[in-house]
Amino acid sequence: MRWTERQRLMLEAIGIRVWGPAEEGATAVAEAAPPPEIVAAAPATVARIGGPRPTGVETMDWPALRTAVADCRACKLCQGRRQTVFGVGHERAQWMVVGEAPGEQEDRQGEPFVGKSGQLLDSMLRAIGLTRTPEDAARQVYIANTIKCRPPGNRNPEPEELAQCEPFLIRQVELVQPRIILAMGRFAVQSLLRSNDAIGRLRGRVHRYHGVPLIVTYHPAYLLRNLEDKAKAWDDLCLALQTFQALPNA
Ligand code: URA
Repeated sequence: MRWTERQRLMLEAIGIRVWGPAEEGATAVAEAAPPPEIVAAAPATVARIGGPRPTGVETMDWPALRTAVADCRACKLCQGRRQTVFGVGHERAQWMVVGEAPGEQEDRQGEPFVGKSGQLLDSMLRAIGLTRTPEDAARQVYIANTIKCRPPGNRNPEPEELAQCEPFLIRQVELVQPRIILAMGRFAVQSLLRSNDAIGRLRGRVHRYHGVPLIVTYHPAYLLRNLEDKAKAWDDLCLALQTFQALPNA
């Protein structure tokens, strides 16, 4: 792959060293992955554990879905939240990013990925020409989490919490109609793909979620603690870009 000077600077910003002259086939530490193999996920089965989850989620429009999420009391996470964290970005974005669950900052501000890991996510997106901001609609992504309420103390989400919340995410995917999904972090990935495998076993190939190609990568918070895996995350971004560019009419 060839990197412009701008991309080189962005790669350096996310901790990926690039060598070789700009615009002349400069090589990132990690080369792009080989052509993608598509793997279908097992069909979803959503367990109801009780509690008044709104009905009819599967036909809701954006305003109804927002209200349904804001009012949801289907699991115990509603008890500790300041607010729900719905999602942000272009409502018909070509790229959708799916993270895990809101942390403290997100719970305060009502927007996904606004803390330190959000800054790294923004840099990762910029490195492949994407943004969360509306100034550049053509490059704007949509960002959502698998869970819309903050787990207390940032504990791991429980399977039934993930199951209760998933219909909201599925509806977001149906409304956005992204051409590709980037799934970040173990809990998001395992829940979306119905897998117990570690990220390391799931990354490097193209999965599908409700028909949409899905690329697995590490969570930005994990990358902030494990700098050595940033090169692998860069591989994942390259695979996502390559997969996107290979889609018809990309
Ligand atoms: N981590 C996530 O997965 N999502 C957020 O919104 C914030 C941190």
